Amino acid sequence: MPAVKLKTKAYAAQSPTQPLESFEIERRQPGVYDVLIEIKFCGVCHSDIHQARDEWGNAIFPMVPGHEIAGIVGLVGENVSKFKVGDRVGVGCLVNSCRTCDSCKEGLEQYCEKGSVATYNGYERDGKTPTYGGYSKQVVVDQNFVVRIPESIPLDAAAPLLCAGITTYSPLMHWKAGPGKSVAVVGLGGLGHMAVKIANAMGANVTVLSQSLRKKTDAERFGAKAAYATSDPATFKALASSFDLIINTISSSADITQYLSLLKRDGTMVLVGAPPEPLQVPAFSLIPKRRSFAGSMIGGLPETQEMLDFCAKHGLAADIEVIAIDKINEAYDRMMNGDVRYRFVIDLATLT
Ligand code: NAP
Ligand code: ZN
Ligand code: ZN
Repeated sequence: MPAVKLKTKAYAAQSPTQPLESFEIERRQPGVYDVLIEIKFCGVCHSDIHQARDEWGNAIFPMVPGHEIAGIVGLVGENVSKFKVGDRVGVGCLVNSCRTCDSCKEGLEQYCEKGSVATYNGYERDGKTPTYGGYSKQVVVDQNFVVRIPESIPLDAAAPLLCAGITTYSPLMHWKAGPGKSVAVVGLGGLGHMAVKIANAMGANVTVLSQSLRKKTDAERFGAKAAYATSDPATFKALASSFDLIINTISSSADITQYLSLLKRDGTMVLVGAPPEPLQVPAFSLIPKRRSFAGSMIGGLPETQEMLDFCAKHGLAADIEVIAIDKINEAYDRMMNGDVRYRFVIDLATLT
């Protein structure tokens, strides 16, 4: 393997209260099973904000966020068989796991019983080397945690699929969204807009529940049959007991009871949104109609590849606004104000 320079430019948060700024990190020398990726684009997930601002209480600083990574293979270790230099590839929220527990053996590495290794804000399996994410020029990842981006999806619009795409595809598959199923998507942000596109492509009848009707035209363009404003109490009366499945993507705490009231008998609401505050779930919002309240976390490596191939087959990708990296703090503020349609994606060519 040729010697490579592994000092890598990045953007980092140094504390929960400071804006992100330019920072230099060091990537490991690629091992025999590693792929070095030249990062071209990285999506901006709301989880980046939760973590950079230490809202989940598990932040490790300095933190280089970013787990929606799309790029080109620049180097491969000598035993790498899955990729070659020049391939279009992606990395999502995971860069390693134990590979031997039941979850790992089933391709559900996100639920690794020994704890999977997060792409950033985590530690490698040695328990001490911090991981740094995709707000950077290069990353070195084991080939088993790299996926192939289909030729038909532009790299910038593919990046958000690595988290927003898989996080919504996985529960839609698990709870069998498809023809004859009525699915509501709550919150039309990065995750929500992908949930609508994917559920519609699966053949489900999709309704969007957004705080207002501002995004109604977009919701319909993404494939929703209807969109309702949750600020209007009449919405909850009109839609009572009407959904088989609700994908809840809300990033801050909201009244869960009113959304549970929209489930049919035996319906399920899946929480993918991860607000820091505990949620209140009254017993009688679940018991009388045998409703389920569930959670779901990203997706494993095989399912992530399956999702990318599904998106290619159905002509799906994220609706994005490409930004220069020095606009990242502004982008965070805009996301907090709901001013994003529908995912910011950093162009790493702007990190010089
Ligand atoms: P986002 O783009 O900011 O979208 C969140 C949407 O939630 C907003 O667009 C808004 O939709 C709605 N919302 C926000 N505050 C609300 C409130 N108080 N009441 C009602 N609706 C509200 O965020 P994202 O990147 O899609 O992420 C969404 C959440 O999923 C975050 O908590 C993130 O950490 C989490 N997440 C979880 C996983 C997982 O594995 N489970 C993976 C990725 C992200 P409207 O404007 O349409 O109302
Ligand atoms: Zn994410
Ligand atoms: Zn495992």
